[in-house]
Amino acid sequence: MFVYLDNAATTKPCEAAVSAAISAMTENFGNPSSLHRCGLDAQLAVDRARKIIADSLGTDSGNIFFTSGATESNNLAIRGAAAAHGKKRRKIVASSVEHASVDETLSALETNGFEVVRVSPRADGRFYSEDFLSACDEQTFLLTMMYVNNETGYILPVRETFSAVKRRFPDIITHSDCVQAYMKLPVRASSLNADLLSVSGHKVHAPKGIGALYIKKGVRILPIMTGGKQEKGIRSGTENVPMICAFGAAVEKLHSSIGERAEKVSAVRSLLLSEISQIGGVTVNSPEDGSPYIVNISAAGKRSEIMLHYLEGRGVYVSSGSACSKGQQSGVLGQFGIIGKAADSALRISMTAETTAEEINYFAGSLKDGIEKVRG
Ligand code: PMP
Repeated sequence: MFVYLDNAATTKPCEAAVSAAISAMTENFGNPSSLHRCGLDAQLAVDRARKIIADSLGTDSGNIFFTSGATESNNLAIRGAAAAHGKKRRKIVASSVEHASVDETLSALETNGFEVVRVSPRADGRFYSEDFLSACDEQTFLLTMMYVNNETGYILPVRETFSAVKRRFPDIITHSDCVQAYMKLPVRASSLNADLLSVSGHKVHAPKGIGALYIKKGVRILPIMTGGKQEKGIRSGTENVPMICAFGAAVEKLHSSIGERAEKVSAVRSLLLSEISQIGGVTVNSPEDGSPYIVNISAAGKRSEIMLHYLEGRGVYVSSGSACSKGQQSGVLGQFGIIGKAADSALRISMTAETTAEEINYFAGSLKDGIEKVRG
């Protein structure tokens, strides 16, 4: 069996994405900046993909800027906002469970004299919009808050928080890392009240190395790279046409089925929860009302890495905490009250709508065997 349950780390590119990338490399390989026919064709392909991404976020093409992925989108959003607005106001408010591409960027700004307030969940493990609101003040120029946490699937109250903050502080720029929500929950920039919004291709069945940043019309950020002024000067560098086309193709395929796929994956998740409830010592760390795509569990005190490799030996691929952090201990689980042995034995199972009952049963059987067989 080959059972891939690490879709929050990355997804398999879909056929439509692969063939779009291939045709952009074999037939439509021009540079969009070139003034001749080949350039124009490439530009048209980029524009088509941009329109698909824009439609999927409920916005216009003019507000979508392609990047190399969400790490760059997050850097561009935060550093770009700091460069444009950080002279007069020096404070940023964020959630305490952001992905490293946000959190490390904030830490870098802190060492440059910015003040960063990280809002934590309360004792019940939940975030409250009031806590973000009371952390904001006249000194604050940016509020950044992910939509779905990549380690637990927890859904943060982004819409409520951004609306409350905008009402009291209309000048604060709101940014949301929507990587784990995009194509899984409806993500509309305007209904979230987001000024800036980051998405990534490889989490939605496009290849790695492509992402986008939504920038609301009229919101000013400065570029972090200088160069040929592509993407209206916001992101210099020749457009990655094959990956942009693949991203567009993947989103075009997924966009109309967000609800249908969420239903499917919810059924698979219920099966998973019911199967693992029968295995002694396994606890569920994800909230019941979290994203149905991510289930974080603690495997009876068995060290995550050991279990991960045991499961790998059985053909099952999961993650220990967050694959993006390259094996480093996750502080994010601690923020959610998952500490000690529970954190050391945490496994993240992340599914797609194509994950089958057979795969889940095979995983649960392998997990049960692993807990019995592996030491420590
Ligand atoms: N934010 C979140 C929530 C993520 O899960 C990831 C990917 N692990 C990223 C940002 C970074 O995305 P990319 O790999 O496209 O740089």
